Amino acid sequence: MDGLSSCSPVGLSSPGTDLWRGVEHPVSDAVSVGRCTVVVGGQWGDEGKGKIVDVLAREADLIARFQGGANAGHTVHVGEEEFIFHLIPSGILHPGKRCLMGNGVVLDPVQFFKEYDSAEARGIDLEGRVGVSLRTHLLLPYHRLLDQAREGSSAKKIGTTGRGIGPAYEDKVGRRGIRVVDLNHEGRARSLLEEGLARTRRHLAELGHTNLEGAEGWVEETLALRERLLALATDVGLEIHRALKAGKVVLLEGAQGAALDVDHGTYPYVTSSNTTAGGASTGSGIGPTAITDILGVMKAYITRVGEGPLPTAFSPEMDEKVRTLGAEFGATTGRPRRCGWFDGVLARYSARVNGLTGLAITKLDVLDTLPELSIATAYRTPEGVVDEFPADTGSLGDVQPILETLPGWQASTEDVRKLDDLPHNARAYLERLEEITGIPIEMVSVGTRRSQIIRVT
Ligand code: GDP
Repeated sequence: MDGLSSCSPVGLSSPGTDLWRGVEHPVSDAVSVGRCTVVVGGQWGDEGKGKIVDVLAREADLIARFQGGANAGHTVHVGEEEFIFHLIPSGILHPGKRCLMGNGVVLDPVQFFKEYDSAEARGIDLEGRVGVSLRTHLLLPYHRLLDQAREGSSAKKIGTTGRGIGPAYEDKVGRRGIRVVDLNHEGRARSLLEEGLARTRRHLAELGHTNLEGAEGWVEETLALRERLLALATDVGLEIHRALKAGKVVLLEGAQGAALDVDHGTYPYVTSSNTTAGGASTGSGIGPTAITDILGVMKAYITRVGEGPLPTAFSPEMDEKVRTLGAEFGATTGRPRRCGWFDGVLARYSARVNGLTGLAITKLDVLDTLPELSIATAYRTPEGVVDEFPADTGSLGDVQPILETLPGWQASTEDVRKLDDLPHNARAYLERLEEITGIPIEMVSVGTRRSQIIRVT
């Protein structure tokens, strides 16, 4: 015996029995031959994942989202047109590609069909192209109301988008959520909705809200979308599994970013789902071994929207300048994003917890005019210098970034399509990002358009 078959099958048969001898092990049903790339945000979200997914979707057969809800806002520019998607995967802009919503997503059916209809109205053929997991949880109007009431009354705001994401995930984890599959049974769906509504009334009363305008209509409104949603329902994990077994290319599209992950981010200033690559497996229904590549998208600088610390924040003047240059206003809420220098400490952490195999650096062009640039390589804390991202979010507010300064390139990169054609200082900057993160750069984005991309590999 050699290789795997020499392993003692502990617990199944004791060494010396004939049970395993001569048995031809079948190829596991879990083995995939296709390529499965996960695209995740490496910072605080808004890294430009939408554009990167749009570029990669050209080469993919199937694109799926695995977490988050309509709190994500992916902006994609095609020709003169701008498309903003909150729920439907950005891959939808490529004709014929199948786009799926995984079980890890919380789906607001009203918002989803609004987006669906508006995409169709703009000439995108969606027939047979969109699928929603039977296991996906629904986000309902009462989740939104609760989210807004809590943010409005809380002394310690999280800076949520007010779209109901947190309360919808609470119901999921609390084992009282409503899944797409429940819509198969009208009676069950109705009673779950009514229970949800009654619960929300109680929670809102505690917050001093008694007016639930239109609430009575919510149950019927949701049930009215039952048939339409069920027509798109599918076993997403199985579809992806079959696609990979058939050698197809699958793209799993993340929303938000690593520092907003509910477990690994700057808790409590995080979103309510696992935005890191592990979430791609649990949130789409495939095993982690089916994933072949994990691409981390990071801006050439950093931004953050919502509350919570940002260790490499710019000075107010610089903040204003880069916000204007980079048009740093949220796609979902229009809120101005805080801006700062590239945070190498966070980037290394993000590379590690995601298991990144490659980097896509976006918005390099935004830095074109700056005379010099800085990168944080460590943090100075009252206890000394640290180069690992701290778990204590409170302490992050007190750290001083240790910055390394590099010369700017002060030339436009917008028309560059090959790495070698970038100005010397821009290449040196990118090389430094690679050294600091230890992850090879595979793509560099130099503008909002599809064509404004440098493919390194
Ligand atoms: P996402 O949620 O990660 O997809 O990011 P958003 O769509 O919220 O924000 C990214 C914004 O940056 C969008 O308006 C994009 O059009 C824009 N964008 C993406 N890549 C680039 C780039 O390389 N340069 C510039 N200037 N803008 C970019």
